[in-house]
Amino acid sequence: MSKEQVQDLLDFIDASPSPWHVVQTIEAQLATQTSAWQRLDETAKWTLQPGGRYYVVRDDSSIVLFIQGQKPLAETGFKIIGAHTDSPGLRIKPNAASSTDGLLRLGVEIYGGPILATFTDRDLSLAGRIAYKNDQDQIARMLVKFDQPLLRLPNLAIHMNRAVNEDGLKLQKQVELPLILSTLTEEQLPLVFFSELLQQQTGIASSRILSWDLAVYDTQKGVFWGAENEFYADSQLDNLASCHAALQALLDNDCMDAEGGATHGAIAGGGLQLDSTRVCAFFDHEEIGSESNKGADGSFLPDVLQRIALATATDSEDYARALAKSFMISADMAHAYQPNFPNAYDPDHKVTVNKGPVIKSNANHRYSSESVSAAMFADWCEQAGVPYQKYSHRCDLPCGSTIGPITSAKLGIRSIDVGNPMWAMHSIRESAGVLDHGYMISVMKRFFAVR
Ligand code: ZN
Repeated sequence: MSKEQVQDLLDFIDASPSPWHVVQTIEAQLATQTSAWQRLDETAKWTLQPGGRYYVVRDDSSIVLFIQGQKPLAETGFKIIGAHTDSPGLRIKPNAASSTDGLLRLGVEIYGGPILATFTDRDLSLAGRIAYKNDQDQIARMLVKFDQPLLRLPNLAIHMNRAVNEDGLKLQKQVELPLILSTLTEEQLPLVFFSELLQQQTGIASSRILSWDLAVYDTQKGVFWGAENEFYADSQLDNLASCHAALQALLDNDCMDAEGGATHGAIAGGGLQLDSTRVCAFFDHEEIGSESNKGADGSFLPDVLQRIALATATDSEDYARALAKSFMISADMAHAYQPNFPNAYDPDHKVTVNKGPVIKSNANHRYSSESVSAAMFADWCEQAGVPYQKYSHRCDLPCGSTIGPITSAKLGIRSIDVGNPMWAMHSIRESAGVLDHGYMISVMKRFFAVR
């Protein structure tokens, strides 16, 4: 089962080379479901039905999906899984194209904290969105994705960088990151060349394309690897693996009830009768601190939850009661032990690939887990027959963070930080264990099914 789930994940990632494409891929998947999913517009009034399936998109790259519960919110609270749609990497600058010695290069900015050296010698391309003036003279937008390898950051030969294996590859961020796109003749103007390329790809006249958000992505598809194909590798595992797991758990109609026995009674549309309101919240901008109109530190999720309450005639006391009853799983990837670098890990908190989801703890609350939420998650793992592991970062290394502490602080709800173990976080080519993906889907399904 895990193998098919991971193949589905790799297809999901390969169809989603930018956060804007992640939302498009999810929307396409919703359209294939037997239950109808309705897109809600934030500028319109919402009418919600118990058991109804809805989603809201903010600025094309953050999405909140929910299945309205059968019972009043104050009785059940919200069951939320949060994750992020963005990954660290390179983004194209506004005046991107320049010519140097007959070569056209694109200037880039660093988005978040990628391992820059991993971007060298890869078959890179571009994906994102453009904003343009349409025939009615309105500002419209369109996603754009170049399929073929378009760009490259060639390494310097070892003959010119003799110390690279001793010192590591260091790239000067301003001058050594521009990506090679083409050779240019004397008459060709770089900016014109680049806007004509966008025109060719989108069918929109270059004079009408006013701006863009373009991410650099790796065209190499995901693969299984290892003697028994027990591992997999792709870009953006952090954090599309968590988005994918949560989405599969939400869409799965085989949720069993808390007793682990019979399913809830069927409702119209072929789904199951589900008591509580289940939510998946996938945010852009986690890698740069979450502070934006669509980030986890913005108003998106609180706005959606509040509007669910308003649309179901929940008064403000009952809304507060609902939040007090709610729980959020903040799902983001964890650092798997790599035996070549034993000193990078706390020796008592090595987490291993293919040994199950990781509960992440940090006394300084870089992760939102505490003893009660950790115990609850461990219990759901046991109910789902899934192994789990516990992670704590080395005390002498600064610990990363997630959307967990931010979101639980904003909403005042109990939360846990969990994630599957992976290697090479923030490399353009990350890898993880096949079994863990299936484990994570199972425990998330259990979480959604628990009364
Ligand atoms: Zn992450």
